[in-house]
Amino acid sequence: MANIILLGPPGAGKGTQAKRLVEARGMVQLSTGDMLREAKTSGSEMGRKVADVMARGELVTDEIVIGLIREKLTGAAGGGFIFDGFPRTLAQADALGQLMAEVGQSLDAVIEMRVDDAALVARITGRFTCGGCGEVYHDDTKPTKVAGICDQCGSDNMQRRADDNADALRTRLMEYYKKTSPLIGYYYAKGDLSSVDGLAAMDAVASSIALVLDA
Ligand code: ADP
Ligand code: ZN
Repeated sequence: MANIILLGPPGAGKGTQAKRLVEARGMVQLSTGDMLREAKTSGSEMGRKVADVMARGELVTDEIVIGLIREKLTGAAGGGFIFDGFPRTLAQADALGQLMAEVGQSLDAVIEMRVDDAALVARITGRFTCGGCGEVYHDDTKPTKVAGICDQCGSDNMQRRADDNADALRTRLMEYYKKTSPLIGYYYAKGDLSSVDGLAAMDAVASSIALVLDA
């Protein structure tokens, strides 16, 4: 059992790899992005508060996301936690260290997924997801076999994220470089950092992550 962080810019493939780890190892994915989108869909007060911030591509407050993670950490760990999209600031990283200590858990690895910026932009603009089963598609690189119909589950409920447009993406990248990328140095200094090539094929990325986990 291991608790890990997947670290990388938007579009690096964190969510995709996290889902594979959930299936392969029974790990528990904690995606603050998914939690915030759920809050938005459910129409809660917090969801309404964060909707505009997220659509612009800015980070929501540390207080909100730390609160979300705190709630989840009290649950059972299963095969370990995968932190996906959290922490995104140094304050969040410090808070995570404290929370883990409080529940008697440790952080075993931080896996940086490296991708170049041009690839990120191409990956994100063009991305859409099946609302039925969560399968991720792309206009150019992975279209559905039948337009508008999910290959996996047959749903016609295809969704595009409000922040997967050129303007919001520019902001997301800037937020990443200003606030999140310092975490690479932070975890390197702690001795927790491993890096994998996020541009490799999906299976190859999964193998690299498996190597880190089994080391
Ligand atoms: P990405 O594809 O950009 O990695 P996520 O789904 O992880 O996207 O997050 C989407 C948005 O949710 C972010 O742009 C931000 O507004 C908000 N968000 C998610 N996680 C955090 C966090 N840890 N701290 C602050 N904001 C967050
Ligand atoms: Zn589907």
